[in-house]
This record gives sequence, structure tokens and C-alpha cells, in this order.
Amino acid sequence: MNKALHIHVTGIVQGVGFRPWVWKTATELHLTGSVRNGFDGVRIELYGDHIEQFLERLRSGPPPLSKINSIQTLETEFQALEDFRILESDPGGEALQQISPDISVCDDCRRELFDCGDRRFRYPFINCVNCGPRFSIIENLPYDRPQTSMREFNMCPDCAAEYSNPSDRRYHAQPIACPVCGPAVSPENWQQEWKQSIKAGKIIAEKGVGGFHLACDALNPAAVSKLRKRKGREAKPFALMVPDLEWVRSVCEVSPDEEKLLASRERPIVLLRLKGGFQTLENIAPGLSTLGIMLPYTPMHDIMFDLFPHPVVMTSANYTAEPMIHTNAAAREKLEGIADLFLTHNREIVNRCDDPVCAVYGGQTVVLRPGRGTAPVSFPFPSDETILAFGADMKNTFALAHHGQITLHPYIGDLENPEAQQILERAIGRELECFNVDPTLIMHDLHPDYFSTRMAETFAARREVPAIGIQHHHAHLAGALLEHGLHGPAIGFAFDGTGYGTDGTIWGGEAMLFSAREFSRELYLRPFALPGGDAAVKSPRRVADALLYQLDPARVAGSIAVQLIESGINCPMTSSVGRLFDAVSCLLGICEKPTFDGEAAMRLEAVADRTETGDLQFGIREKEIDWRPLIADLLDEKEKGVGAEILSARFHNTLAEMVYLCGRKLAEKHGDLPWVFSGGVFQNRLLVERIQRVVGSEFRLCFSSYPNDSGIALGQALIGVKNGH
Ligand SMILES: [Zn+2]
Ligand SMILES: [Zn+2]
Ligand SMILES: [Zn+2]
Repeated sequence: MNKALHIHVTGIVQGVGFRPWVWKTATELHLTGSVRNGFDGVRIELYGDHIEQFLERLRSGPPPLSKINSIQTLETEFQALEDFRILESDPGGEALQQISPDISVCDDCRRELFDCGDRRFRYPFINCVNCGPRFSIIENLPYDRPQTSMREFNMCPDCAAEYSNPSDRRYHAQPIACPVCGPAVSPENWQQEWKQSIKAGKIIAEKGVGGFHLACDALNPAAVSKLRKRKGREAKPFALMVPDLEWVRSVCEVSPDEEKLLASRERPIVLLRLKGGFQTLENIAPGLSTLGIMLPYTPMHDIMFDLFPHPVVMTSANYTAEPMIHTNAAAREKLEGIADLFLTHNREIVNRCDDPVCAVYGGQTVVLRPGRGTAPVSFPFPSDETILAFGADMKNTFALAHHGQITLHPYIGDLENPEAQQILERAIGRELECFNVDPTLIMHDLHPDYFSTRMAETFAARREVPAIGIQHHHAHLAGALLEHGLHGPAIGFAFDGTGYGTDGTIWGGEAMLFSAREFSRELYLRPFALPGGDAAVKSPRRVADALLYQLDPARVAGSIAVQLIESGINCPMTSSVGRLFDAVSCLLGICEKPTFDGEAAMRLEAVADRTETGDLQFGIREKEIDWRPLIADLLDEKEKGVGAEILSARFHNTLAEMVYLCGRKLAEKHGDLPWVFSGGVFQNRLLVERIQRVVGSEFRLCFSSYPNDSGIALGQALIGVKNGH
């Protein structure tokens, strides 16, 4: 019997070897017809007897890099054809496709890379349809070579033959290249230079996939100190790149889940717990118990480790808070005096992209910085409306929803920095152009002074579309709903550093009853003053004094904090749990003057004795979670000589207990709802694990995979659509 079926597949189905896979499968099953890329996914026409088997294989084993969102089928008229063909892309219409992130070098390519008989032997830009650059080289969609920065390189006859042969693993691999026709590293003798320089303790600027790195020998403390000094980076931890998993195991505790994540094709930086007593790595992550480690992800890295099989510091090349450098010219200009050697190449980076930072907490992967490999990333979205969400100012990323999906862009940076502001503007422009869409609704943070807010308002005014401000923590929690495929109602915990509240104070210790539509602030941390506003965010001492002032003003009489509080000038009130961490870190003598954002809290977590089960007192009165008994208790114990390791652990245990009691209270009132967690404080692994332990399986716990502000845009967009604008 002759059957005929039209199939429409959406998702990440272009530039990932999808059409050759269809061609091969259809041909094997003796089906005729065609496959072609369109702006709305891939369309397949199939004629023959084994269509069911084809669908079965499509559902159970599609090409490894593809990510299918939907498969729609429609029976059609049978046509007698000779064979199965791959047709040209279908131009026109609106783009519904997704942009694939950059993919680490695959095993097949790595094998060829070190095969001296292969024509790509030790060629640093080897790639195939299953690996290589994507997002970082794309200028426009559909994803075809002329729309990428590979346009500059004319394929040699050998590459062209592979590119056009459907049975070759480089069929339509858009970045296909070889030493004859492709990009090249400069200087030409870079391998020799690399080996000599890294061994000699020099700092090397290396152009990678999404931007420049600064590298040095991680086992050479003098080189590491030199890098810190030249980069103006006092204590902020450096990420390491190590040759293989063996090295990771020798330095850190690593679970099977973490190993899987390290070796995944995204190859993120994974935050791992340092093994005790690994002295050689001093000055890499001073005072911390964790280390960010990644495995090599480009062919160039593989060659580098073949020449020098030791751990290497691999840090984004920039100066202090500036965004990662991605052009050769900027590298030469800005890294002069920092780098001793420059390894550049002539493949232009169109879209800069930092290394992603991930961790595994209680079995769940958490993305602390969405970047190369992990972003852009798309989620199903409950509306076809085109919505642009600007996110927040810290750790900015934006999100674009259209055609029933939402795409989260890679990490942009902190918008305090003018360069990051420009990058955001350009990245939004490019993404709108790529997808060929016009937003009808603009979302932003409620904070009136955020750059992202002003930019969103200007953008909306220019296009005459509405712009809506969303409360920071409602957006945090709604983002988590979207990730978990929920709509609410739910009980939400937003423990955070800073977020503008609807009452004009700074929130960050909220327990909410909320949905994607609305929220009510049910319980919150007892407010305290932030003496000097932003200055207090950088000074745990001031926050600690503000807390002590509420306990016993005499104790801190005359301090700067008290003078500010009593004058009432620039002393906003806050309910921030993030600041409570800072204050406790300071009171325990762990960190008084942080040199980077989050340092006080990270070091407090680092010292905690994980075997300690005791806790501290606190109170819940009406809507207020009272921290005063906690601080009093902490100081008493400290006076009795109890150590910071024990008190830090008790502080974490107390917060977990606080969550449990607040959640129980809300559950009694509102019923058995899921508990949702988001906000920067939940980057704290110990706290997350303690909450999981205390609550157990009594309630459903949903932790956000994007706990810091990089997930805010997702929530903003979801609230936008649910409010029916
Ligand atoms: Zn490959
Ligand atoms: Zn070639
Ligand atoms: Zn936040």
C-alpha cells in the first residue's frame, strides 16, 4: 500500500545534521520524497510503506544535537517519485527556528585531529555537523554559511565535496574548514610559542570561541599572582581548565552527575568542592571551598593540552568589571601590559559569549551564568505573542518570546558598565533581526534607576508599544515557574541581595503566595537600614552595625553606620537575606571587606562545618521574620568561644528551619502548593541542601535553575503574557 505523509518538525533542527539524518533514514527505509529547511522548522514529504518506522526513529533517536519541540503530521496525496532528496532552504516568512549554541569538539573530530594521516591533523578549527561554532558566528537566520563569519573563507574543493555529500559527516556543516581554506591561528608557530610561554610562567591571551581568555600555568603561583596583579583582580576566583577528568578528580570532590556535566557537549565551568589539602592551587580561589573547573572544548584547547598537559587558569580576558574582549583589535589595545603572548585567529566572533558556569545541587543542574554551549536556550512559552524582556541590571541577560517559545540570551554582564550597556543594545537588535520579529510588549524591572528599565522604556516609546515594570522577586519566582512548566499558585521564597519592592524599599527576604499573574508578600525578613545605600552593599561592616543598632544602639554608638542611620540620609530599608549573610560573615570575622560581589557570603558558606546540626533562635511575628534573636544568639555563642565554622553551619541550618516554618505556615493557610525557590541566595549549595534535608518529601520543592538575576527576564515575560496585555 502506498502511503504519503507531510511532517513538520520544529525546535533546534537546522545546522545540526538534521536533513542528512532524514535523508539517510528515509533512504534506508526505501522511502521517497524530500526534506527542506523552512523559516518555521523542517518540512518532510514521505512516500512509501515504512513511514511509521520513520516516525518511530524520529521520535526515539533523532540526531544528537537536535532538540525537537514538536512533530506535526498531515496525510497527503501519494506521488510516485524516484528517490529521496534534500531540497534548498525555503526563503520568506517569519523565522521560528532557534539558534543553536556553540558545541564542543566531538569525538570523531578529536580522533581526526590527532591522526597524522588526516588532512586536518592538528588543525585548530576542525568541526563537523555535530560540533563547532554556531551562535558565536551567526549574523542572521537561516543558519547558512553566507550568513556567518565563515563567509570570508571560500571552501577548497575537498571541503566543498564533503559539504555537498549527504553521506559525509560534514554535509552542510556550515563552519567546515581545513588548513587549506579555513581560518588560521596567528602567529603561525603558535604551538611552539604556547608551549614555551606557558612553561615560562607567562600570561597568554588566547582567542577562543566566544571571546578572549587569559591563560597561565595554574600550578605556578608566581604566574597566578602576576595575572591577578595585572588584571586588577585581588581575590575573585579564577576558573581552571584541566586536561581530563583524572585531573578534576585529583583536585576536587566530583560526583557522577558532576562528571557527566563536565564532559557534556556544553562543557561548562562546573563549581566543585575542593579536596582538602590541595596546596598547589593556592591563590586560585582564596578562602573558598569551591573551584570552577572545565574541560577543553575547542580543538585548539586539545592541541594546547597535548603540548602542556597541566591545569591552566582560563579566565575571561577583560579588565576588572568590563565585558569579555572578543575582537583582535580590542585585545591588542586593552590587554597590552597584561598578556605576554597573543594567540589570535581570523574567524570573526560575531556574538560574544562567556563560558557558562554551572553546578549540581542536590541532583539538579544550576546555571549560575548562561553562556557558550548552554545559551541561547529556549523554553516552551504559553503564548504566541512577541515579548521582549530586559531582565535586571546585575548579571544581565534578556529574553525574547515569540511563536510559543522563549529564548534566553547568554550572559551580557553588569549594566553599570557602559560597554555592557552597548552590548545589550546591540545583542537585542541582532536577535530581533535574526528572528525577524517586532515585540508588541516590553517587560523590565520595577527599579526606576536601573539602566535596563530606562532602556526598555525608551525602546517601547520609540515603537509605541507598552512597557511594564515587574517586581524583581515576583519575576525571579515566575521564572522558576516557567522552567518547571507550572503556572501557580505556589508558595515562593525569594532570598536575594537586592530588588526594588512595591513599597519603595529594597526587598530580598520574601515568602510569597504567587502565580504567573500576581503575588502577595506574605512574610518577610524584619527590615533593617542600609547605611549609605549601595555603599552598604559593598560593606558588610555597615550592615552588621545596622543590625546591632536595632539590638542595642549603645553597642555601635558613633560608627559611620549609626551616624548615617540617625541622620536618616540615604538609608533605605531592606529585608534582604543576602545582606544578612554579609552581616553574619562580618560578625564572625570571616569577611569584612569583600573584593568581589558575593565574596562575604561565599566565604561564610566555605567555612561551615557540614557535620554541625545545631541552630540559632529566630521569631515569626505576624508577617515579620525576626532576625534579632538570631544575631543575639550568634554573638552570645561567639563570646562563649564557639568557632566560626560551627556558627556558620548553625546560621545555614537556621535559615533552612526558617524556610520550613514559613512554608508550613503558608501551607496551612493556602493549602498544599509547590514551594518555589529563586534569588541569588540560592546559589548557596549548603543552604539548598539543608532546605532539602529539613523539608524532605513533605512538600514539593522547585528550585530555579537560574537562581541569580540571569533568570529574571524569563519571569518578566511570563508575567507579561499572564496579565493579558
Ligand atoms: Zn565534530
Ligand atoms: Zn578546505
Ligand atoms: Zn535578584
